[in-house]
Amino acid sequence: MPLKNPDNLLPHVLDGVDETLDAWAEKHAYPQFRTRQIRKWLFAQRATDWQQMTDLPAAVRNELAGEFRLWTTEVVRHTQADDGTEKLLLRLSDGGQIECVLLRDRARRTICISSQVGCGMGCVFCASGLDGVDRNLTAGEIVEQMLRLQSLLGEEERLSHVVMMGMGEPLANLDAVMASLAEAHRSDGLDISGRRITISTVGLPAAIDRVAQMDAPYRLAISLHAPNDALRNQLVPVNDRIGLEAILAAADNYFSVSGRRLTFEYVLLAQINDQPEHARQLVRLLAGREALINVIPYNPVAGLPYKTPTPEAQKAFREILEAGGLRVRFRHRKGDRIDAACGQLRRLTREPPTRPTAVEAP
Ligand code: SAH
Repeated sequence: MPLKNPDNLLPHVLDGVDETLDAWAEKHAYPQFRTRQIRKWLFAQRATDWQQMTDLPAAVRNELAGEFRLWTTEVVRHTQADDGTEKLLLRLSDGGQIECVLLRDRARRTICISSQVGCGMGCVFCASGLDGVDRNLTAGEIVEQMLRLQSLLGEEERLSHVVMMGMGEPLANLDAVMASLAEAHRSDGLDISGRRITISTVGLPAAIDRVAQMDAPYRLAISLHAPNDALRNQLVPVNDRIGLEAILAAADNYFSVSGRRLTFEYVLLAQINDQPEHARQLVRLLAGREALINVIPYNPVAGLPYKTPTPEAQKAFREILEAGGLRVRFRHRKGDRIDAACGQLRRLTREPPTRPTAVEAP
């Protein structure tokens, strides 16, 4: 999908950093160390402006500012929760909006990044896909989210984990996602270990196979949400033409090629996929796999009918999985007070509030 560029915008330096900077250095006949200096400012020293790159001559800084955009997005909204979660709503240069989140958990600093504007997968409970997908993000727009979130950290804090769990289906935008994750992983990028970088996917077998062939060092998380095809077809409509068997085969192959333990995600929806029978089926489906099952109690989305299961139902579900020998983690609900679940903040700003307010006289 071509990007609209009505104003002939300058190239984005974060979109193909090496190629962009190498071409720039060659054009001006600058030595290679200039590009290394700029990389260091961008990724390690968290520069937010060319003028902060003080070991570059002022003339070079001005030149860079005249030739490239460092940022292509505008922060529309920056929200902070008491638990340390921070969320950015960003407006892209063509007007689209995306979200990204910083989560703080003890020493962990995890960033949750979007890969598309909207999402085309149509999972019925998710806010991101309610209006379909507008377009893929560029690699630069994905890296920009990482750097913007990194710039929110205090000096003593360091990014430790990246999860592609924001808006969009990362494997539907594979090239840009892989290019941006390479910047997260490189020692002269954000220098984050591959074990701490997770691609979350609805489960697209052909794309999973491609990632396996690339020898990527990243973890894969597969959004399962149902233990059988009949239920999964209802919750995750794209499953209709894929099916659990093909997804699990691709997942097993990814595990055997990469050696990376798999994660399966399971959003728990009250009365829909949270019954003891679902837990027992899940045990049978995943038995014998070196996998972690990540259960996420539903984070309610305004306007959708789905509900979070009661603590008792959650506990019962967990106990069956554990008794069945699965490794289970229940994800804590972080940042739900600031609508940190994917796509929620964007909807709040796009639509007039539809929720009834409690202002009517009794
Ligand atoms: N397209 C990718 C990334 C999506 S977001 C994927 O499908 O994995 C990451 C996870 O959050 C997915 O498992 C998604 O199903 C889940 N999710 C979406 N909306 C949610 C909500 N309201 N509450 C809890 N989890 C949600």
